[in-house]
Amino acid sequence: MRIDLHTHSTESDGTDTPAELLATAAAAGLDVIALTDHDTTAGWAEAEREVLRTDGASPVRVVPGAELSCSCQDGRGNAITVHLLAYLFDPSSRALVEEQSRLRAQRRSRLYSMALRMAEDGFPVDPDRLMAELPADSPGGRPHLGRALVGGGTVSSVDEAFDRYLGSGGEYYLPRSDTPVHRAIDMITEAGGVTVLAHPFAGRRGPMVTAEVIGELAEHGLRGVEVDHPDHDAAARAELGRLADELELVPTGSSDYHGTNKTIGIGQETTPPESLDRLVRQSTGSEIIG
Ligand code: AMP
Ligand code: FE
Ligand code: FE
Ligand code: ZN
Repeated sequence: MRIDLHTHSTESDGTDTPAELLATAAAAGLDVIALTDHDTTAGWAEAEREVLRTDGASPVRVVPGAELSCSCQDGRGNAITVHLLAYLFDPSSRALVEEQSRLRAQRRSRLYSMALRMAEDGFPVDPDRLMAELPADSPGGRPHLGRALVGGGTVSSVDEAFDRYLGSGGEYYLPRSDTPVHRAIDMITEAGGVTVLAHPFAGRRGPMVTAEVIGELAEHGLRGVEVDHPDHDAAARAELGRLADELELVPTGSSDYHGTNKTIGIGQETTPPESLDRLVRQSTGSEIIG
């Protein structure tokens, strides 16, 4: 059984539609994927339709999920951004619907401002066109601006756009005001779901939380931690594995697939079946599709 619990579709900053994502997963020999678009559950319906269309014959089952942008103290006195994977929650939970909608609106206005600043400095991006090309009410993100910069010939890859302009230390980076992580854990728990801290030791993305902070989140109801992730080196994986054992957090592994916006293939990292079982047993909000 091969399970990848972290993927993105065109409903956020991936390049496969949810239906294409299922085909990509099947071609990669996966049995289960989680659809974890940033700050939206809009892709769940298409994934469900696609699984139903194949009349139960879809080789791939889908864990409905999302990746929530959260603010968190890093344990060293700084406020930072962390990503929280949420699975198997009730998507109609009112507090969650409202907060996700606020985050998406904020993402779009922030993306527009970043693009406008670049346009004013002479970069070949058109902020209005960029926004018009996003699905309505979708969570725009820096990868969309990165692709526009690739299209305009400024950089040769989205990675290069991050390295040169869009990363958290970059000249055109603008912050967001995300959901406090305790509140996000509470909202998902109240909606019957489970939360897993995404790529906590991915140092190349920016500042990270300490192990003490992960312990404190576990006390607050966090259920799992992403151990195997493309942005974790061997030392990070070893330490997170130890922490998961000690704190009784469910260890997961995932590719964080974003289609052609990143170089990682789907299924490049996987989650042990017993980890998925533990997450399913602790959730009541919705069920695996298929
Ligand atoms: P945003 O959601 O606008 O804050 O942008 C962050 C997203 O950009 C993450 O979810 C990743 O998908 C992507 N990302 C972060 N760092 C990089 C990078 N170095 N290269 C390509 N994509 C990245
Ligand atoms: Fe992303
Ligand atoms: Fe993430
Ligand atoms: Zn992700």
